[in-house]
Amino acid sequence: MFIFEKVLEIYHKYYICVHCLGRMFSLLGTNTTNYERGYSLLLALTMENHHHLLSSSENQEVYITNLRLLAEKANFIPAYEVLKKEGVEVSPIKSAKKCYLCSDIFSHLEIYAQDAITQTEDIEFDNFLVGSSVNSQLINLEDEFKAEFNLLESESIKTHFNREVGKIISDNINKPPEFLFPDITIIFNLNPQSHSIDLLIRAVFIYGRYNKYLRTIPQTHWFCSNCKGKGCKLCGHTGKQYKTSVEELMSPIFISKSLATDSKFHGGGREDIDVRMLGEGRPFILELRNPKIRTLNLQGIQKQVNKQNKRKIKISNLRYSSKVEVKNLKKNAEQTRKTYLAKVISKHKISKENFKSKLAQLKEIFIDQKIKQRTPLRVSHRRSDKVREKTIYNIEGKYRKSKLFEFIIETQGGVYVKELITGDEGRTKPSFAEIFNNSLLCKELDVLKIY
Ligand SMILES: [Zn+2]
Ligand SMILES: [Zn+2]
Repeated sequence: MFIFEKVLEIYHKYYICVHCLGRMFSLLGTNTTNYERGYSLLLALTMENHHHLLSSSENQEVYITNLRLLAEKANFIPAYEVLKKEGVEVSPIKSAKKCYLCSDIFSHLEIYAQDAITQTEDIEFDNFLVGSSVNSQLINLEDEFKAEFNLLESESIKTHFNREVGKIISDNINKPPEFLFPDITIIFNLNPQSHSIDLLIRAVFIYGRYNKYLRTIPQTHWFCSNCKGKGCKLCGHTGKQYKTSVEELMSPIFISKSLATDSKFHGGGREDIDVRMLGEGRPFILELRNPKIRTLNLQGIQKQVNKQNKRKIKISNLRYSSKVEVKNLKKNAEQTRKTYLAKVISKHKISKENFKSKLAQLKEIFIDQKIKQRTPLRVSHRRSDKVREKTIYNIEGKYRKSKLFEFIIETQGGVYVKELITGDEGRTKPSFAEIFNNSLLCKELDVLKIY
């Protein structure tokens, strides 16, 4: 069957709009629009039948029937005008007809576009993508329609809608579409009767480093171990195990400046609650979700966070980051070399001379050697029990008092330093306690450097 015959057959049974007519033949012809395809078909059909009507005296009825179909069923004004001009009786165009396939969605794309523009007015974005979720009723109807007329060169409602609405929006707001990483995705939920819009705003990632000066706060917020966050008597109905955290001290300022809905803190490893993070700090990335503002004054935020949290935490080196960097940050954290300062208390008195000789032994045994660490008792409830081999790179020691020493220890990432000192009941081998032949306790620990 030829295209012209197909078109006439379609309008014999259904009314579809010009966009949808062109859409049914979308794979044919290029560098044009579906509307132009549809209009051209109707116009060519009108001209063909007009030509026959004028030039032949036979089959006049056929040409008049075809033109009438184009005017009355397809609502095509040029066909209507031809019939009127040639003095053939024809009913006036009915404008109340609804497209069988798209329920006139494609005749009102301006409204959809305008709706999206209004809803994104107070959001900062450089580019966007239009998506849609089409009601299954519309999809089924169209599938049956295509099967009925054996239409194999069509384009889906979704593809046509997304592109055409995208064009209108882009022209109006002067921002380009972006298919891989759009700042916002405008999703239309299309029903024959109504529509709604969902917005997906791409998160903004901010990299920085933090120092932690308190020995009482964790890196991120912990749910109360009793109620798991619901709130109970034990946690004073806060749902939290600790009053605050590095994350909670900084994130509200980022959230309020970016007008994000919430945030997620990604740390490049973490220190124990009672361990301070000194020196140049530990890298982190803050993920700001659904931010209405993407261009942030990072210097200003840094200042404000640091001013509000004096002697608690400090952040520095802020810059924009990405999802990919979050992955790398987590992956690298285990392997990153670190330097610690440990204040160590011994059970029995040790003379300065003795300390010196033990320190020499420590250096000999540990530096550039591997230790074996079984998962410490204190974390065994949440970490799998296994033995890790880790390298110690350097050890310096200072004698303070007969029962108080300081060590600066440089290690491979992932070493349990407290256990390296105490021995953890033989689970870390060798250990400082073992060499000192004395019971040692790590009283205070600071991270001095993360490489
Ligand atoms: Zn339509
Ligand atoms: Zn609780």
